[in-house]
Amino acid sequence: MLNLKNAFENIAAECGVKLSLMSAARLTTFKGGGSAYVFAPDSEGQFINTYVSLAGAGFKPFILGGGSNTVIADGEAATPIISTNGLDGVYMRDNCISAGCGASLRRVSAMLSDFGYSGFGFMNGVPATVGGALRMNASAFGRCIADMTDTVRIFLAENNIWKIKEISAKDISFGYRRGVKDIVLSADFKLIDDLNGENKRDFLGERIKKQPKKPSCGSVFKNGDIPSGKLIEECGLKGIKCGGAQISGVHANFIVNLGNATASDFLSLAELCENEVMQKFSIKLEREFELVI
Ligand SMILES: Cc1cc2nc3c(=O)[nH]c(=O)nc-3n(C[C@H](O)[C@H](O)[C@H](O)COP(=O)(O)OP(=O)(O)OC[C@H]3O[C@@H](n4cnc5c(N)ncnc54)[C@H](O)[C@@H]3O)c2cc1C
Repeated sequence: MLNLKNAFENIAAECGVKLSLMSAARLTTFKGGGSAYVFAPDSEGQFINTYVSLAGAGFKPFILGGGSNTVIADGEAATPIISTNGLDGVYMRDNCISAGCGASLRRVSAMLSDFGYSGFGFMNGVPATVGGALRMNASAFGRCIADMTDTVRIFLAENNIWKIKEISAKDISFGYRRGVKDIVLSADFKLIDDLNGENKRDFLGERIKKQPKKPSCGSVFKNGDIPSGKLIEECGLKGIKCGGAQISGVHANFIVNLGNATASDFLSLAELCENEVMQKFSIKLEREFELVI
């Protein structure tokens, strides 16, 4: 790990970016797990330089937004993380709202509502950033982030040349939990008049009734024809604990941290769900969360 630390320190110094070893408790909404080296750029230029330098040195950096779909393995991760927290600008334009990849959906939603627009209310209570939501095509209440998106600025390597491109949402193959494949720098979202009074709907209240309050990474598995939570519940696994983690008694597709969960506790429960659902229903659960190792 000493060599990794040295390599990361050199890259951070070259790019003028802050580097720290941070715990999962600070990086993810599940809050359990190990630690990782985190680069914290505070401009798009620094973000790009850091990514390119790490890639050039043979690393595959993990881009971290709100950490609400991510679990960090126990111990010290070998994968370097680049946090998008510093890229959180949000501003109104004539016909859209622009947001940096690290802006929280809460912030975008609040600004829309301040200006009399709506559209992001369905994500109230989801601790995601613009980049993470576009990667996952986050959705709830029958709506998804793709519905709101006008254009996305991405960063990608084509024939070994790094490029920034602006793509129209129409040209992105969005689907269920299938979003932008490349690195998201920023996005423009549509302005929708709050004609149907969406801003008055208590999306958060509706969410709170159905989801656990304890720390989690949201749904552990993607839903198929039968919701994964129902399959897990029918295997009698609701409430089962492993160390400091528990299959939520409120919603079986959530694994919650009771206070001192490790990533291994989380993964043991995820594997238990996979094995039991396979045995009882011959259905393979597909993981939704990302694991940083
Ligand atoms: C309480 C709770 C409720 C939730 N409810 C929902 C829900 O209703 N609907 C839903 O869809 N999800 C839900 N989730 C899951 C989660 O919020 C979403 O998956 C969200 O889109 C993740 O965003 P994030 O910024 O936290 O991403 P992170 O966890 O930080 O990252 C997730 C993925 O996105 C990638 N990523 C992050 N930023 C970028 C970027 N700039 N460019 C490219 N890739 C990037 C990461 O590398 C990783 O692959 C919930 C989670 C919690 C904790």
